[in-house]
Amino acid sequence: MPRRKLVAGNWKMNTTRAEAVALAKAVAAGVGASPACDVAVIPPFPWLVPVADALGGSAVALGAQDVYSEAKGAYTGEVSPSMLLEVGCKYALVGHSERRHVIGETDAATNQKVHAALETGLHVILCVGETLAERERNLQDRVFQRQVYAACAGLTDEQFGRLVFAYEPVWAIGTGKVATPELAQEAHKNIRARMALLYGDKIAAALPILYGGSLTGDSAPGLFAQPDIDGGLVGGASLKADGFLSIIAAA
Ligand code: PEP
Repeated sequence: MPRRKLVAGNWKMNTTRAEAVALAKAVAAGVGASPACDVAVIPPFPWLVPVADALGGSAVALGAQDVYSEAKGAYTGEVSPSMLLEVGCKYALVGHSERRHVIGETDAATNQKVHAALETGLHVILCVGETLAERERNLQDRVFQRQVYAACAGLTDEQFGRLVFAYEPVWAIGTGKVATPELAQEAHKNIRARMALLYGDKIAAALPILYGGSLTGDSAPGLFAQPDIDGGLVGGASLKADGFLSIIAAA
């Protein structure tokens, strides 16, 4: 079965409540009732409820930027998978490079979060990708191997069906340096090949792999035309409805 594309907008720590609601409404209106690809917006935690209300009944899904690995208890500041489900989230982002490299999240913590989110019924968008220093030393395939192996260890076939990867080269995130379609395609192909070696051809072939890193309406068509690129995870360009909708139109 061909993989359906997904375009997801990660708003990071941006927007006021009013801006978030207005942006969600504009995206929902622009996307219409039956878009050609899946679409999601991923606002900051405090705006999940008002954005869920603004999206109500639309074709745009809701996601959270992170999730904790425990169901409940004394974990001050954290948010559980069931809380996200209850406010209407379909997706949780896990292992975003800003969490790995700014907050210091480990591969093991990422694996625990992937498990907890999938066991609760969420879909997971799992981010992987190399830093500039790793790319300069041609280490990206080793990084994929480590991140993919660590994050997916112990998942069931059913859980793999709710997993989406996002290849996000750290040097391309928020820098304006978008990867070329050729470089991104090679990375996606290699990630899929690693998944096939580790978990079998069927799981690897069905796995959507998004590209993320300075994606815009100009760069999206060339990237989305590649055989192993199944949509995009969009940061900066998802903060304006027009820009985000032009990326969706390319999918
Ligand atoms: C991201 O943070 O997931 C991202 C891809 O950001 P940007 O599009 O701004 O590079």
